[in-house]
Amino acid sequence: MSPDQAPVIALAGVRKTYDTGAIAVEALRGVDIRIEHGEYVAVIGPSGSGKSTLMHILGCLDVPTEGHYELAGRDVSDLDEVDLAGIRNAEIGFVFQQFNLLPDMTAVRNVALPLVYAGIGAAEREQRARRALERVGLADRGDHRPGELSGGQQQRVAVARALVTEPSLILADEPTGNLDSRSSADVLGLFRELHETGRTLVLITHDQEVADAADRVLSIYDGAIRDDRRNAVGVRA
Ligand code: ADP
Ligand code: MG
Repeated sequence: MSPDQAPVIALAGVRKTYDTGAIAVEALRGVDIRIEHGEYVAVIGPSGSGKSTLMHILGCLDVPTEGHYELAGRDVSDLDEVDLAGIRNAEIGFVFQQFNLLPDMTAVRNVALPLVYAGIGAAEREQRARRALERVGLADRGDHRPGELSGGQQQRVAVARALVTEPSLILADEPTGNLDSRSSADVLGLFRELHETGRTLVLITHDQEVADAADRVLSIYDGAIRDDRRNAVGVRA
């Protein structure tokens, strides 16, 4: 199968054990997940169920103890830190609960940062960052610093940063966790728009309302996927 036809995410028999000395914690206990291009998927589970562990593996921030992970057709189960960093930058756009914007940089410079690591020249970086900001409805805020923006706007900047490299996957970890209900709805509306333009999105959340915004919901419980269902049309806000 060529990489073009491969699913964006294929996890097979993934286990993750944290060995903390006295006792080993099995945070993932045999996870199989397949996500195709253009899918909009939420992963929901209670605290301690393994969401962050799964997010770290999906995001190439960590590797499984056992099992395999293919990202966009490439086996990334056993890569070293340098190769993982390269894959992360090329294939994945991250959105975090805490926005993770650099406070001393303007929105444009924050959005352009992944392009610095990708070795793209300054003029093209600026142009692409401004285009990404336009895409999230913040064309007029490019020269503002994060502290001059609302929480919802800061998360939009973070989404622009996640988009700017045109990644195979946008991976969001509790993206509305720090937002009021109006800004949450706003950011979820933006995710829906991105989905409609063909992006592959995975949202990790403990919040049922956030999960309801996706097309497909995987429920994780005690380190295993317990349910995989499609949201009915009309559930979404
Ligand atoms: P969630 O994000 O759903 O709250 P986590 O993936 O953070 O779940 O944690 C799953 C399990 O793994 C929990 O029992 C947690 O205590 C344990 N765990 C997570 N990270 C570590 C770690 N670095 N060392 C040891 N145990 C960990
Ligand atoms: Mg967590």
